[in-house]
Amino acid sequence: MYTAIGYATQSATTPLAPVKFERRSPRPDDVAIDILYCGVCHSDIHQARNEWGIAVYPLMPGHEIVGKVTAVGANVTQHKVGDLVGVGCMVDSCRSCEACQANLEQYCLEGPTMTYATPNRVDGSNTMGGYSDSIVVSEHFVVRIPEKLDLASAAPILCAGITTYSPLKHYGVKAGDKVGILGMGGLGHMGIKFAKAMGAEVTLFTRSASKAEEARRQGADHVIVSTDAEQMKAAAGHFDFLLDTIPVQHDLNPYLDTLRFDGVHILVGLIEPVDPPVHAGKLVMSRRVLAGSLIGGIAETQEVLDFCAEHNITCDIEMLDIRQINEAYARMIAGDVKYRFVIDMATLKR
Ligand code: NDP
Ligand code: ZN
Repeated sequence: MYTAIGYATQSATTPLAPVKFERRSPRPDDVAIDILYCGVCHSDIHQARNEWGIAVYPLMPGHEIVGKVTAVGANVTQHKVGDLVGVGCMVDSCRSCEACQANLEQYCLEGPTMTYATPNRVDGSNTMGGYSDSIVVSEHFVVRIPEKLDLASAAPILCAGITTYSPLKHYGVKAGDKVGILGMGGLGHMGIKFAKAMGAEVTLFTRSASKAEEARRQGADHVIVSTDAEQMKAAAGHFDFLLDTIPVQHDLNPYLDTLRFDGVHILVGLIEPVDPPVHAGKLVMSRRVLAGSLIGGIAETQEVLDFCAEHNITCDIEMLDIRQINEAYARMIAGDVKYRFVIDMATLKR
């Protein structure tokens, strides 16, 4: 064991504050990482405030981790000291079930071990995330950061990137498809870039008319202001796919109307009950599909990093001093970030 430092919260109602805590010494299959940057995901806020009812305290968020390898266990073959690597939302899984064997560790039948607020599979300790100076992770859950990528703006690819790339890929989005992205925050702005890179005609649905110009700069071909009923109506029957990153309960029915027959509405932002209810007729009468998707597997996380390097895709980030983390949460909730905060971990040592 060794002493690490980071920012954690002790309850759903207290702010994040500096803490010292114990990290394990590397096991034979572990990689020890000095964290350089960590993205700030809306899931970090949901969890810090126990909005999903599954938080475990003290809770140290952070699952968009980029850093440098400082030590490796005796059995590690994929990474060596000095490598630039990433860790996303998961740090372990059972590795033998059908999902794990299919490289879909996120759907592990025993439940994956998430990067924070989950019991470690070996010693039962509560996992602590990336708002920290260091982390120790089994090598299977550590990915390589391609040389071409800027390290800080690569960090959000580990969650915001893979979560939007994976469903677009799974549902086979291709050139000419009409794709709608719902919400332009951390996930949404990456969704626009990926859909565009896959050749789709991309539309942003946003509450914020002021984001229209920005969305076009991100690659969106069209913008629909979702609070304007006329604009929503005019889009009836138009889309092949909707990728829904909205982080709160919202009425899906007006969005379902914008899908063509066989269209697919993919939820990634919501894990609460849908409220108000979906009108089943909107699915049945047009063979539409309401779907969901969780991050992506480890192999696919490496794939999306390589895809970003190949297509020159990066996240738009605002660098954050970790001492401003509580203000950053408030700004994210107010929609005041373009489009991802990334913590510069050098600020933790100040
Ligand atoms: P952000 O806060 O960065 O962005 C969310 C966007 O949704 C906002 O920018 C805004 O876009 C829109 N929005 C926010 N509040 C509302 C509202 N009340 N009504 C309608 N639209 C709203 O969040 P992230 O992109 O980081 O995360 C989005 C969601 O995805 C979160 O719930 C997060 O937990 C979840 N998530 C899911 C994952 C998965 O594997 N399925 C993985 C990672 C995150 P605009 O102003 O354009 O309307
Ligand atoms: Zn996330």
